[in-house]
Amino acid sequence: MAKKTDNQRHRVVVVGSGFGGLFGTKALRRAAVDVTMIAKTTHHLFQPLLYQVATGILSEGEIAPPTREVLARQKNATVLLGDVTGIDLAARTVTSHVLGRELVTPYDSLIVAAGAGQSYFGNDHFSRFAPGMKSIDDALELRGRIFGAFELAEVMAARGQDVDHLLTFVVVGAGPTGVEMAGQIAELAHKTLKRDFRSINTRKARVILIDAAPQVLPPFGAKLGAWTQKKLGAIGVEVQLGAMVVAVDERGLEVQERDGTRRRIEAVTKVWAAGVQASPLGKTLSEQTGAALDRAGRIAVNPDLTLPGHPEVFVVGDMIALDNLPGVAQVAIQGAQYAAREISGRIRGKAPQAAFKYFDKGSMATISRFSAVATVGKLRITGFVAWLMWLAVHLFYITGFKNQVTALLHWLVTFVGNERSERTATEQQIFAREAISRLDGGTGELVSAPSATPSHEDLEERAAEEVRLTDAGVRGKSA
Ligand SMILES: Cc1cc2nc3c(=O)[nH]c(=O)nc-3n(C[C@H](O)[C@H](O)[C@H](O)COP(=O)(O)OP(=O)(O)OC[C@H]3O[C@@H](n4cnc5c(N)ncnc54)[C@H](O)[C@@H]3O)c2cc1C
Repeated sequence: MAKKTDNQRHRVVVVGSGFGGLFGTKALRRAAVDVTMIAKTTHHLFQPLLYQVATGILSEGEIAPPTREVLARQKNATVLLGDVTGIDLAARTVTSHVLGRELVTPYDSLIVAAGAGQSYFGNDHFSRFAPGMKSIDDALELRGRIFGAFELAEVMAARGQDVDHLLTFVVVGAGPTGVEMAGQIAELAHKTLKRDFRSINTRKARVILIDAAPQVLPPFGAKLGAWTQKKLGAIGVEVQLGAMVVAVDERGLEVQERDGTRRRIEAVTKVWAAGVQASPLGKTLSEQTGAALDRAGRIAVNPDLTLPGHPEVFVVGDMIALDNLPGVAQVAIQGAQYAAREISGRIRGKAPQAAFKYFDKGSMATISRFSAVATVGKLRITGFVAWLMWLAVHLFYITGFKNQVTALLHWLVTFVGNERSERTATEQQIFAREAISRLDGGTGELVSAPSATPSHEDLEERAAEEVRLTDAGVRGKSA
């Protein structure tokens, strides 16, 4: 076990800078502890608004502020960039890597909030042509692909060629993310871009929302699902339910109906918004504790969010399987705050808290501008009122005052003016993921190995040798 020195404060390591990681770290600001947050991105990410980055409404900075800046005033918090590759529960250490550099960080208490990634249900090769919606990279790649499809269609149309496959957009997964994404692509094509092109009519673009389930937005109940489906139809989204995607390639995808028949949809731009898989760190923790993993890789935790036999290790948010809790931001926030309270309570000698209890504040999803659905307790709200609630809640939770102000301005541009402020897309956005995936050693291959970097002493020695050679006048003379 990694020992701490006598005068060292209780060390808390937090893995992840998402909702669990950031709110857990913040909740420890007054505790007599030193917190080290290790995350594989330098930013906190407000995932619920990723679709707005992908469709040109918001900039990436507005939903992904630098974690270091958010925590700058929290003196007991240190932020480290690193992909956590190992957690040793016996030694109480966390091992992380960044560009080939390894770091081992000891802890006394640990909060693991590494979230979940996209699941392609065993068909990971789909991801090449149908990016998911989990990170800023994903959103920027999708922005490039969506706006790029219109550009390519304009060129092809000018050459007199068929453009239907370029003007067909398919979103797979009719949960909140899929519904929001499909709604925004439809508004983009049918309203925002309608005057910008000469050879194509963007209003003729097809936006298809596909799901194997029999209704849209299942967690919102049958009534709101039906209302949403009707509304999507009204803004030009074709909803295809009971249809399972069985193949995806560069030019389109294949779906299988319930009766087994297959059909093909020609569509260059596909968005994958179906299925999540918890962080692989859950497997590491499961192997060391015997805690079960469910099909989505979520780990079974004790009612106080700790791991069996390890009261010093808390797992929160999208990584956990407990009482059928949903994978939503509030579960991660409340769980991390609970863990932080427990850690600081223990240091002060307080009795343990009662089991973690989630307080459901409700759910919401936007369909188009001025239209949303929301559930709060037993209330079911639709239309403009739900949209106003969505606006208020999201504005409140966007991190940082300056981001709240600029997001509000961008929403004015989009919702009142029908314009998009963030349409910039580059070739690198679209192709970098594919290029990086072709490197055997990942991005680490693009920089020199730590050992190849000369030390200060090496450089001083080399300079001293240069000086000696010159002063001794021995250059060009054989020894
Ligand atoms: C597109 C989308 C829309 C959503 N919309 C909503 C919504 O409207 N309302 C709602 O309540 N919820 C929504 N959610 C769900 C919500 O965002 C998640 O439930 C929430 O983010 C979970 O918080 P978390 O801390 O568990 O994980 P995350 O917020 O995902 O954070 C995980 C963190 O861990 C880091 N990490 C992961 N692996 C490692 C590693 N190996 N080493 C170091 N760091 C690592 C990541 O970089 C990240 O910082 C949405 C999710 C998505 C993807």
